[in-house]
Order: sequence, then C-alpha cells, then structure tokens
Amino acid sequence: MTTIMKGAPVAAWMKETLEEELAALRRKGIEPRLAVVRVGARPDDLAYERGALKRFEGLDIGAQVFEFPENIDHETFAAAFAKIDALPDVHGILLFRPLPGRLDEDAIKKMIDPLKDVDGMSPFSAAKVFSGDESGFAPCTPSAVMEMLDHYGVELAGRNVAVVGRSMVVGRPLAMLMLRRNATVTICHTKTKNMDAICKNADIVVAAAGKARMLSPAFVSGRSVVVDVGINVDENGQLCGDVDYDAVSPLVSMISPVPGGVGAVTTSVLAKHVLKAAALLNG
Ligand code: NAD
Repeated sequence: MTTIMKGAPVAAWMKETLEEELAALRRKGIEPRLAVVRVGARPDDLAYERGALKRFEGLDIGAQVFEFPENIDHETFAAAFAKIDALPDVHGILLFRPLPGRLDEDAIKKMIDPLKDVDGMSPFSAAKVFSGDESGFAPCTPSAVMEMLDHYGVELAGRNVAVVGRSMVVGRPLAMLMLRRNATVTICHTKTKNMDAICKNADIVVAAAGKARMLSPAFVSGRSVVVDVGINVDENGQLCGDVDYDAVSPLVSMISPVPGGVGAVTTSVLAKHVLKAAALLNG
C-alpha cells in the first residue's frame, strides 16, 4: 500500500511546536511579525498571500501587507524596502518575486537583513545554507520538503536522493539541506543523462522541474519515496505536479500529491522562520 504524504497533517503537526515557540517568545516580551511586500497584484502572489495571512491568523502571529504599484521606480521602491527592513517590530520579510522588470531584483535581494530573510532570497542566506550555518534561512519550499519527510518518518542519513531541478529557490538549497542530514544527493537538470535510471535507483526522488507529469513510472521503483514540488497547469487547465501521479502512485512506497502536498506546508514553514528570526534578532 502506498502512503500518501499529504501536507495538512504536516502543518497540524508543526502547529503544536509553533504554538510552544510563540508562547516562549511572548514570555520574553517578543511579538513576532511578518511583513509581506508585494509589487503589483499578480493572481499567484495574491493567492499565496491569502494562504499565508490565513495561516498566520490561525497561529495568532502578526502579519502586515505592504503593497506597491506595479509601475513604481527602483529608487522609490528601494527606499521603501529599506524602511520596512529597518522596522524593529518586523522580524521577517516575504517579498514576492519576480519583481517587475524595471526594479533591480538582485540589488533588492542584497538589501534584506539576513536575519529577517525568512524566505531565503538573499545571496547571504544562500551562502549560510550552502556552508551549513544553521542561522541561515533556506527558502520555504525546500524547507517544507524536509518537514514533510520528517513528519512521515523518512530517514535521510545514508540514503540516495535524486533532486530533479537545480533552481536557487528549490533544487539547490534542498540538496544542501539533505546533505546536511547526511543523504547522498544527485542533482538532475535539463542536461542530465539517464535521469530515469538515476531516479529509479534513488531511495527518495524530489521532482522540482516545473514540467507537468514528467516523472513517469520509468523513474521509480517499489521502494521510492516521491516528493512532488511542481505546480503546473496542464493542457486542460488542470493543476498538476511534475509527477504523473495516477500512473506512479500505485507503484511506489510513498508519494506526495499536488495539490495538497508540499504546497500546504510552505506557509507553516514561513511561520516557523518568522519565530526563528524573532528569536535570533532578540538573541
Ligand atoms: P525553475 O523553472 O526556476 O527551475 C526548474 C529547474 O528544473 C531548472 O533547474 C531546470 O534545469 C530543471 N528542469 C526543467 N526541466 C527539466 C527536465 N525536463 N529535466 C530535468 N530538469 C529540468 O522552477 P522552480 O522555481 O525551481 O520551481 C520548480 C517547480 O516547483 C515549479 O513547478 C514551481 O511552480 C514549483 N514550486 C512549488 C512551490 C510550492 O510551494 N510547492 C514553490 C516554488 C515552486
């Protein structure tokens, strides 16, 4: 029987610890707060923002949205961002990306205080994650994959992992988080040869390529643990992952669905990171 790794139980499991951490911070007089910074009003950003605000409300953690017009110029936005970053009662900042083309995203990413960089966007955070410095924040999505594997009791030490995708948002930081837990990680990408065989031989396969249903039964075996990070819309307008779920799920040991898998955990990770940031900033 295949175990379906749903996200909701992971979020519920995390809630208990988050509530304890929040209570401990409040005992010290610290009130954690997230700033959500959004330029324009892309439907995807608005959907994620609604989910994040709902999660934070459910956890009784403060969150405030700072919205800027799509046509804002770089200097004005950079000045406003610096002000938000400096607010003493803001402990974490989520900035929706990509920013509109007229804004210099790389420059903005470097402006954030690494201790407030709860979605791991700055190169300083990446350097910390890649060097194994635990004070550095990885982006929320790879961290959510780790929470999911932990919740479902998937051991990482000594296991072979194939990560499909090498973006700085998912694939690469995830490989580092897994390496930190003593997994042996192979990162696959568009130029990888024999990717199906590499994935089939791995104990754990994480699909983060952004290609609808690309992981077919040829990529898995009966012992595979498959985590699907992909969020795609197929040719029929249906939401689907990077894994051909219907064909693959009966063949593997564990699999996460899309929707209702990793995506349901990311806002809980965001909250976890805000509490960690509040503790670090007051430490
Ligand atoms: P990206 O486009 O930045 O990176 C995709 C990576 O996959 C690249 O490194 C590319 O080389 C690799 N790739 C593409 N096609 C491939 C193929 N056929 N074979 C092997 N490798 C291939 O995307 P991203 O931002 O890393 O996101 C990946 C997926 O995860 C997307 O579907 C995205 O929507 C989804 N995502 C989900 C969440 C979540 O909360 N669940 C968050 C962020 C991204």
